[in-house]
Amino acid sequence: MHFCEAHIYSGFFPCPWPECANGTRAEDLELRGKRVFSQRFGDIVGQPVYAWIIDGVSAADRASQLTRRAIAQVNGAPSVADDGFLYHFTTEPALRSILTTDELWLTDYRDFSDKQEIQEGQTVADATFRHLEPELSVETKRILATLVNAPLSEGVYVACFSMLKDSPHHWTEYAKDASGGALVMNPLSFGPLLARDPFAIQFTRVAYAWDVKAGLFASLAVWLEELVYFDKKRGLFDENVYADEMTQIFSELLPMCKDVSFLREHEVRLVVTPAQAKSDLAANLYVRSIPGRRYITTRGVLPGFSLPIEKVVLGPSFAGDRTTLNVAPVKLEQM
Ligand SMILES: [Zn+2]
Repeated sequence: MHFCEAHIYSGFFPCPWPECANGTRAEDLELRGKRVFSQRFGDIVGQPVYAWIIDGVSAADRASQLTRRAIAQVNGAPSVADDGFLYHFTTEPALRSILTTDELWLTDYRDFSDKQEIQEGQTVADATFRHLEPELSVETKRILATLVNAPLSEGVYVACFSMLKDSPHHWTEYAKDASGGALVMNPLSFGPLLARDPFAIQFTRVAYAWDVKAGLFASLAVWLEELVYFDKKRGLFDENVYADEMTQIFSELLPMCKDVSFLREHEVRLVVTPAQAKSDLAANLYVRSIPGRRYITTRGVLPGFSLPIEKVVLGPSFAGDRTTLNVAPVKLEQM
């Protein structure tokens, strides 16, 4: 796996940007007897980018790769609290369970208790795609319409964190009248979990402002349009291949979008999309279920992964037995 921070690139080949120190001096590469070349895109929007193209193979996945760059750009801003930690607010029973099992639940986004949350993304997407319509080809328009109208795709799992440590809102909303607690974790220590499959597991910031959300969907539409044109010219355009690819990336964007009224949450999400996996993650992941909620766990993603809990902050109204919490007293604090 190659990474280039300067060009926000990750993939099987070195960075495709010309002259990049993380790139390659070779003009062309080869994969299973096929020529692989670096292609420039994005001039039409004044945002040139480079991507590897394989001769004779559809470039549909490049459209989602370039959209993922847009996500990475949103994530470029600092995504942690001032102290460098992320806060997971929860109720006392859930807190006890997490400390005992040493794993977090990631909920299927189709089972979020607030259905409006996911609709927010769909609303912004619909408006953004409509706005761009005059600029788009028939094929792109058809694919985008499919995305907005299709039922939510399977297999997007989410755990929520806040970048705020002292948030009265979170104590009330997520820690049940401040009687719950907050797990304080170091995001950098999630490295091994993310490394399980960087294509399918990531931390992502929630976008609240309309412009940011619309920008993500506009990126999707623009890259789709350019890649559709590119593959049509090469005689390699297959609408179904493109539709499948875009369905996945679209379902990654939806959990990133929340209504601006939630702005004060400053949320960061751990998102796992097994369908995007380039490893055996999907095959080995067991989806559990309780009534109304499908979920996976951090240990399900990476067996043996221990939560990097720095400390546990108990809410101002926490009234439970502290001695039976499965955490070292030195890591325990009360608000
Ligand atoms: Zn580079």
